[in-house]
Amino acid sequence: MTKTVKGHVHSIETLGAVDGPGLRFVVFLQGCPLRCKFCHNPDTWPFEGGEEVTVEEQVKQILRYRSYIKSGGVTISGGEPLRQAEFVLALVRALHEEGLHVAIDTSGVYCEGVALQAAMEADLLLLDIKSFDRERAERLTGFTTDHAWKLLGDREAAGKPVWIRHVMVPGLTLVDKDSEGSAFGTEEEWREANGELLAGLRKLSGFACVERVDLLPFHKMGEYKYEEAHLPYELGATEEPDEQVVAWAEKALGEIWEERG
Ligand code: SF4
Repeated sequence: MTKTVKGHVHSIETLGAVDGPGLRFVVFLQGCPLRCKFCHNPDTWPFEGGEEVTVEEQVKQILRYRSYIKSGGVTISGGEPLRQAEFVLALVRALHEEGLHVAIDTSGVYCEGVALQAAMEADLLLLDIKSFDRERAERLTGFTTDHAWKLLGDREAAGKPVWIRHVMVPGLTLVDKDSEGSAFGTEEEWREANGELLAGLRKLSGFACVERVDLLPFHKMGEYKYEEAHLPYELGATEEPDEQVVAWAEKALGEIWEERG
């Protein structure tokens, strides 16, 4: 692995606060094979494009912000960053030489060979579980979650930390209305209707490497990007989940995590 390996960078964020611990420099890589219906960055999908940079150039740029990201580090995101596995592995190693903490934000779709090596060398993996139902995940993204669970198992075996991200999409990964289409009257009714979500969270709690689970309410902030790219946006009629339902989901997660001890 040399620092001359080139990657295609979609964009950067110099002071990210939501992609891992502390303040972080976030590198978004170009290209993603998934087609998550809720994706808010469809502009990262094409494999072509982005700015071509070497690992050395990317590290140099990051080091300019070194004093700001002391509390955090660097997150390599996308798109699906592990599509450019050689670049990511070389970047992880070069950043480690500089003593920086590195997280990779991935769907886990590439979980073999160099991609696996990169995923395992990251200090932290931010791993998306798109749906707790295998087939629904495939309908939602084009891929099942088999690869993500495999990668989670690999991190577990190595004792390396993972933060899980799960987007709560009403009608797809979250049941937010009763069979009549009305808001649930009680938390109990909501729980009964959301067995899949709760079972998924319980399954995750069985992995000692999972330090944290972020339940992310679906939002439509990326909708305009679909219009700009002349892409169909299938979730136009889907509403963002209401606060009560989000609070019940957070509460259930908190209880499951408490039981875990
Ligand atoms: S994996 Fe991420 S970048 Fe790719 S389609 Fe899904 S949300 Fe978008």
